[in-house]
Amino acid sequence: MKEKKQDSGLWVFIEQINGKANPVGCELLGQARKLAMIMRQQICAVVLGQDVKHLAAGLIASGADIVYLIEGREYQCYSTDAYSTALAFLLINKKPSVVLFGSTYIGRDLAPRLACRLKTGLIADCTDFTFDPVRQIVVWRRPAFEGNVVADIVCPVRRPQMATVRPHIFPLPKQDFSRQGGIIQLKGQPQFGHFRTKINQVIPQENNDSCSLEDAAIIVAGGRGMGNRANFYLLERLAAALGGVVGASRGVVEIGWRKAQEQIGLSGRIVKPRLYFACGISGAFHHLAGITSAEIIVAINTDPDAPIFNIADYGIVGDIEVIIPAILAEIEANTADRR
Ligand SMILES: Cc1cc2nc3c(=O)[nH]c(=O)nc-3n(C[C@H](O)[C@H](O)[C@H](O)COP(=O)(O)OP(=O)(O)OC[C@H]3O[C@@H](n4cnc5c(N)ncnc54)[C@H](O)[C@@H]3O)c2cc1C
Repeated sequence: MKEKKQDSGLWVFIEQINGKANPVGCELLGQARKLAMIMRQQICAVVLGQDVKHLAAGLIASGADIVYLIEGREYQCYSTDAYSTALAFLLINKKPSVVLFGSTYIGRDLAPRLACRLKTGLIADCTDFTFDPVRQIVVWRRPAFEGNVVADIVCPVRRPQMATVRPHIFPLPKQDFSRQGGIIQLKGQPQFGHFRTKINQVIPQENNDSCSLEDAAIIVAGGRGMGNRANFYLLERLAAALGGVVGASRGVVEIGWRKAQEQIGLSGRIVKPRLYFACGISGAFHHLAGITSAEIIVAINTDPDAPIFNIADYGIVGDIEVIIPAILAEIEANTADRR
């Protein structure tokens, strides 16, 4: 015991792909701003990539006081090796008190590697965080024991205090482009020779719609109540008619009816659509954890006592094989009327 005392700010890792920042970075800047005011510390954003300067103004407008840029060809595409080496180098020097990552594929890969290099703890998949002024410590909140309890976790001794935080939990802060901030372009960062891995080629995944699920305004999701894999064509037709995308419960991912990227819930994706259809989904806590931010939930289920009806805005008690074709027929009739 002893360590602690590291107060060079709250840091947020800004994930970017092809020069486009993942919104979770700004969500975290907005929330970090609230803590920074109580902790009287500055907020630093750090971006790695090739030619990412253009992101700095938006990050300052979202709450960053300083934006660190680590640029170079070796950072163009994410690699655990290059990113963790460069970030460890920077963080060991700067000694932040807190470092935040989005709980994305990249954040979940990078944060533990870094925590290990910095010999500190990592609280994964948080859903909230606050500052305890008495203990002068960040209190991280996350579901534990299969979602049956919500645990408050602290990193009492080692620094920095590090966490991955789920996307879509915090709202995007209102950007203020009159805010002033510093931009620091770091020179002499580790280069190719320092890394054990080298990316030769990036092959885009076919039909990779995983991003669109998190950004989708309309999601039509199916569970075990769909009856079989083939019945998902009904959901694909409904999604196409409404301009939405198809999602799934873990129940159907586990039996292989749908891809893991489509899973919504505690161990899947957190979504924030304007309209969410839950078709043949019971509404287990683990699934609901992924849809609490949906504006309107429509549930279709044969069981009137299914828990999904407790949170649904509109509930339809009935068989998906009857209800969904009826909705499709209604949409088609309306579309035909308007022509
Ligand atoms: C650690 C952990 C993490 C988890 N993470 C997730 C997660 O991220 N996402 C997730 O979804 N689950 C997750 N789960 C699993 C979760 O607890 C449930 O088991 C799962 O969500 C159930 O899937 P389901 O609703 O499709 O199936 P079921 O619970 O079997 O429900 C099927 C529903 O369909 C209805 N139904 C049946 N026939 C019809 C029909 N013809 N028409 C209409 N309705 C019909 C039934 O009445 C029932 O309500 C997790 C579990 C654990 C332990």
